[in-house]
Amino acid sequence: MTLQPDRATRAEWTKAVDGFVDDFIEGLETAPASTSGDIPVFEPPAETPGELTDLLDRFAAAAAQAVETAGPGYFAYFPAGGLFSSVLGETLAQVVNRYTGVASTAPALVAMEQSVLRWMCDLFGLPAGSGGLVTSGASMATLSALCAARQPGGTVYVTAHTHHCVAKAARIAGLTAAQVRVVPVDSSLRMDTSAAASMIEADRAAGLRPFMVVGTAGSTSTGTIDPLADIADLAERCGVWFHVDGAYGGAFQLTSRGRALLDGISRADSITFDPHKSLFLPYGTGVLLVRDEAALRAAHVADGDYLQDLDHGTGLPDYADLGPELTREFRGMRLWLPLHLHGVAAFRDELDEKLDLAAHVHRSLSADPALDVPLSPDLTVVVFRSARGERATGRMLERINGTRRVFLSSTRLDGAHTLRLCVLSHRQHARHVDELLRVVHDAARAEWAS
Ligand SMILES: *Cc1c(COP(=O)(O)O)cnc(C)c1O
Repeated sequence: MTLQPDRATRAEWTKAVDGFVDDFIEGLETAPASTSGDIPVFEPPAETPGELTDLLDRFAAAAAQAVETAGPGYFAYFPAGGLFSSVLGETLAQVVNRYTGVASTAPALVAMEQSVLRWMCDLFGLPAGSGGLVTSGASMATLSALCAARQPGGTVYVTAHTHHCVAKAARIAGLTAAQVRVVPVDSSLRMDTSAAASMIEADRAAGLRPFMVVGTAGSTSTGTIDPLADIADLAERCGVWFHVDGAYGGAFQLTSRGRALLDGISRADSITFDPHKSLFLPYGTGVLLVRDEAALRAAHVADGDYLQDLDHGTGLPDYADLGPELTREFRGMRLWLPLHLHGVAAFRDELDEKLDLAAHVHRSLSADPALDVPLSPDLTVVVFRSARGERATGRMLERINGTRRVFLSSTRLDGAHTLRLCVLSHRQHARHVDELLRVVHDAARAEWAS
């Protein structure tokens, strides 16, 4: 056995993997939304070769023991599903195994990736000189944005509904907890921008150095959008970096409803958004866009003697200079292939469908006297509680997830246990939402009656 399979062996392996892929995807419609069981023990690798079919069986069993994040019953956190076309793109990128940390080693592929990033900058209305980076997710993108914006001894402004990746990035970057300032929200959970202005002014008068304000374009708990245009005004007036966390909501800029809701996003200094959420891609794909690519480069550029032969004169960005990673795969392919293969309209239509479905869910849950629905959705997250209170709400979640037809998660709003669901997967359509509603109404009635 060598490490280089011949053509016949490759064909046999590919066929075996293809068989698994087909069974898996075809089975998603009826697969349980979650499973439980004992975690198996895996032996260390043997000195001698194994059988692919046997190894695939073990993989399949391990993959089945999971929350079915790829299936249509997954309404927890942010469902995305994982587009098959993106999986193929990723496979192709890995087969050619091109290095894209420095553009000159695969300039045409970097130009391909760059064409996707340029399209995204244009989508958000960022000017010439803007740029970005495909990352593994919004957390890594946020870390790089914060590093590009930061000032020594500076403070950053968030709300209690800002994703914790901002505070985490601040901590990794060496800021203290006190340098992350929490601005109050209004009754609809949006940043109170006049409170933010007062805080920034008072902090500056006290000798602190405010450097960044974060607006969320679709919060994780409720999908709420901060007043981005007001925050842009504030940032401009105060001379601070305006970061928009659009990890979940950013992609709705493709739709006309989303574009209206995200008004002001084009004035951001940096934007994160997660194609592994709202563009339905497999996990591991985030994007950072910055108004001034040079600021991102200044925060990350580094060099070593062993890199002296690399040509930096392609006119394309060297992605290694824009983020923490030196070695990187051709990460753009997992975006480029689906966007070109399906066309942008397919993504817009899918997101519009999710907005309609979430509005339908909100109407249906609001009409149920056994439920308390505290907010109208800005995008596709809907929050609700049992009208019977805190404990009943917790039991409702157990009932709902216990059906194993759907899987939901929960959060806390004003201290109260609140269930949340998000319609986002490309595998979720009206019939799946109807089943979700049946399960939720049944659980609400059961708690009401108990
Ligand atoms: C998911 C999410 C993040 C974190 O993104 P990862 O891709 O999980 O690192 C940040 N902000 C918001 C609003 C999110 O929903």
